[in-house]
Amino acid sequence: MNDLDHDIIVAGGGPAGTTAATLLAQRGHRVLLIDRDRHPRFHIGESMLPMSEPVFKRLGIRWDKNEYLPKNGAEFIDEAAGISVRFPLAGQHQPFQVERAKFDHMMLTNAESHGVEVHQQETVMDVACDADKVSVRTDRSTYWARYLIDATGRNALMGRRNKAIRRIENLGKFSLYTHYGEVNAKAADTLFETGDVKILIVDIGWFWIIPMAGRRLSVGLVVQKEAAGQQRGPALFERYLAASPLLTAALQGAVREFDIRAEADFSFTNEIRHGLRFACCGDAAGFLDPVFSSGVFLAVKTAEAVADRLHVALMENSEANPDLHRVDDAAYQTGFNSMRFFVERFYHSGLVHNLFFVAERSKELREDILGLLAGDLWTGTNDFQRKLLGSRQARKLHADCAR
Ligand SMILES: Cc1cc2nc3c(=O)[nH]c(=O)nc-3n(C[C@H](O)[C@H](O)[C@H](O)COP(=O)(O)OP(=O)(O)OC[C@H]3O[C@@H](n4cnc5c(N)ncnc54)[C@H](O)[C@@H]3O)c2cc1C
Repeated sequence: MNDLDHDIIVAGGGPAGTTAATLLAQRGHRVLLIDRDRHPRFHIGESMLPMSEPVFKRLGIRWDKNEYLPKNGAEFIDEAAGISVRFPLAGQHQPFQVERAKFDHMMLTNAESHGVEVHQQETVMDVACDADKVSVRTDRSTYWARYLIDATGRNALMGRRNKAIRRIENLGKFSLYTHYGEVNAKAADTLFETGDVKILIVDIGWFWIIPMAGRRLSVGLVVQKEAAGQQRGPALFERYLAASPLLTAALQGAVREFDIRAEADFSFTNEIRHGLRFACCGDAAGFLDPVFSSGVFLAVKTAEAVADRLHVALMENSEANPDLHRVDDAAYQTGFNSMRFFVERFYHSGLVHNLFFVAERSKELREDILGLLAGDLWTGTNDFQRKLLGSRQARKLHADCAR
């Protein structure tokens, strides 16, 4: 094995790829990371969860409060009904709202500073995982290594190659979004003071409002396809934005930074997340609707689990074991499915109205919901989470998997 130039090749330089690469390079492994883009590059998904912070600490990330806005809570609002409920998130770990171009670039530069060899604007085209090595063909060259980590995001290189991507049908949504700068209206002051993410419930789905440093806002509308009818483009976004008193007031005089963009069909699982000399992490392992801002959190947590398991295997020369990561499957399912069933409840059983507002009166329920919103998923003490995982839907999923 020592004649190979690299121990690990990481495909993809988003939060999952840079996390896995950095954690392995920190322990002396030779890591090559390949990303098809040149950073800084745009990416949607600005709101972080508190429980990502311990991972960022391990990576040596230092937050500059001039560049990133501290996030202190999540507020769910139904303007039409005149009700709202806020969950404060400032606890043991301080999360941030981040402009992804800047944040992802910081993570990549940090990986390089830990010794990761980074190739940008290079695309992984094909991969062969054999008993004795992996070979990775890109649009520039071919590389060999002991192991491949697939962190290609929703491109899901290995999942698609293995025909293992399954859409989560009942979460089929699309999203329309943009950024605003010069958000100077007085009505927006509290957004920047609290740093809260706001979720506005509307009849066809929900808006996110995420404040960022420098008085900028990320605003997006997530729509349930069946509810939207024929209208899907920017006009739909504009119509719903104009109907929201909160958004209209906050965006008075603000400047839209780019044309409204769209992303569709974004919830899926990857049924083959690991195998002979490869493992997937981040969105490449499975992706969920963003209503609870779980994407980057799951990306860095799954990357951490893959990197920690692989480090031990590389030291013991046991990385060719195709079942290497099986031991972590249960923890993965707990994390992913907790969020998945939480999201499904949001859409299909009026979670916000039936539970969040009730939670105002129940301290225990409120604590449990807060735990999920913070990403505190592996304590085993959260009754609400236990109920989610034990629900009829969860049992059906387990039955489907067993078939
Ligand atoms: C509408 C929307 C809103 C969201 N909002 C939030 C939010 O508020 N908070 C949150 O935490 N998450 C949010 N997310 C999710 C979040 O953006 C993702 O979960 C997160 O970026 C996953 O990180 P990753 O590293 O797995 O993938 P990515 O960040 O997508 O990185 C993958 C990288 O792989 C590279 N790549 C792909 N294919 C190849 C290839 N063949 N060769 C080389 N490189 C390749 C890409 O260039 C990219 O840089 C949102 C997502 C959507 C769609």
